[in-house]
Amino acid sequence: DSLGHPAGDRLIIEVAQRLSASLRRSDIVVRPIDECAALPSQGVVARLGGDEFTIIIEDIQDASVPIRVAERIQRALAAPFVLSGQQVFTTVSIGIALSTTGYDEVQEILRDADIAMYRAKAGGRARWEVFDQRMGEQAVALLQLDSELRDALGRGEFRLCYQPIVSLQNGKIQGFEALLRWEHPSKGCISPLEFLPTAEETGLILPIGQWVLEEACLQAQRWQQAFLMDPPLTMSVNLSASQLSQPEFIEQVKRVLQKTAVVPSSLKLELTESMAMSDPEHTARLLFELKAMGIQLSLDDFGTGYSSLSYLSRLPIDTLKIDRSFVSGLEKSSENLRILEAIVTLAHTLNMEVVAEGTETIEEVIYLKRLNCEYAQGYFFFKPLGVADAEAALRQ
Ligand code: C2E
Ligand code: CA
Ligand code: CA
Ligand code: CA
Repeated sequence: DSLGHPAGDRLIIEVAQRLSASLRRSDIVVRPIDECAALPSQGVVARLGGDEFTIIIEDIQDASVPIRVAERIQRALAAPFVLSGQQVFTTVSIGIALSTTGYDEVQEILRDADIAMYRAKAGGRARWEVFDQRMGEQAVALLQLDSELRDALGRGEFRLCYQPIVSLQNGKIQGFEALLRWEHPSKGCISPLEFLPTAEETGLILPIGQWVLEEACLQAQRWQQAFLMDPPLTMSVNLSASQLSQPEFIEQVKRVLQKTAVVPSSLKLELTESMAMSDPEHTARLLFELKAMGIQLSLDDFGTGYSSLSYLSRLPIDTLKIDRSFVSGLEKSSENLRILEAIVTLAHTLNMEVVAEGTETIEEVIYLKRLNCEYAQGYFFFKPLGVADAEAALRQ
């Protein structure tokens, strides 16, 4: 993804040049295409827009030729580019569609190549995929789920559950994490894991995320009025990657804070390591802005990503949430125990508090206390609760 880079256009041109060069050296016939925006006139590659290119290869029998070309392209683009003295790495996701499948229009080939390209992208970095009919069916299913999600949002079928976060010092509820549920009219309650990836892909996560933020803040404000605590109850809200990269994000958060009159310091926004690492400079700027508004920040699923510690230590993070995988079976795994100990020490050195996710047993609680972990969340204490049950838990 080169477009976010300040020298993005320059990079696109260099990528295109290297791409063309790698194709000209090949033993296959690549058909010239004329409409090469921003390209020198080698004319074997067309820029489809943004950072996408199309290559048409003629007279081939099967997928082996384009696969060979795809691998050659990936090799050619694997070496870093040097832009204004800086090394820039790119990765290429390639989708292949064969016209022998029987197409009436060239647009249909492009559409299927595009579907295969997205599949390659979803599979990880620098991959290629050949289109097959199943992918087409899955793409249709995705569109269907997207339109169902749109309706669900319009009809108010989303709901939040609230899972208490408990202080390990005194056993009291310190706050809640808001977790999204879809109350489907016929299929019942659907987990966010089933529809959030689609919502993220189609962009619907933005209005959904906005709804979650507002609903969670409203609920937090109501509970803060009803249950006076010092400090006030916190409300943790999960963010998605595309929310963070949205230019209006800060404005939207400001608006929600105003509208719901929630105490800003009681709102905790949760982001994952990979979100923090994907565009470090942008993310750092954003987090400092949120911090300046008084909002707290948590790093979710900590330990599962590959954060650079020196980078993390420069971010204004208040809380590390240790991923469930390190907490479960803690008493049986000396390795997990050592990792946990190291994470807690690291967090405290960086002036962060620690929440242990997925705490399910009394043994885990005992160990977590011993490690000086401040908070825990998990089925041992509470499952995610509806509003009435959450209020009952607060009255306990
Ligand atoms: P997460 O942020 O890591 O949330 C914790 C998940 O672990 C929740 O699953 C919760 O129900 C589950 N959990 C809590 N305690 C335990 C336990 O003791 N044992 C086990 N096995 N699981 C436990 P849930 O509600 O299905 O949410 C899954 C994921 O979906 C969340 O993981 C979060 O990444 C995402 N998510 C949920 N709500 C939202 C939302 O409003 N916005 C965004 N962007 N993501 C959300
Ligand atoms: Ca891209
Ligand atoms: Ca979370
Ligand atoms: Ca988590």
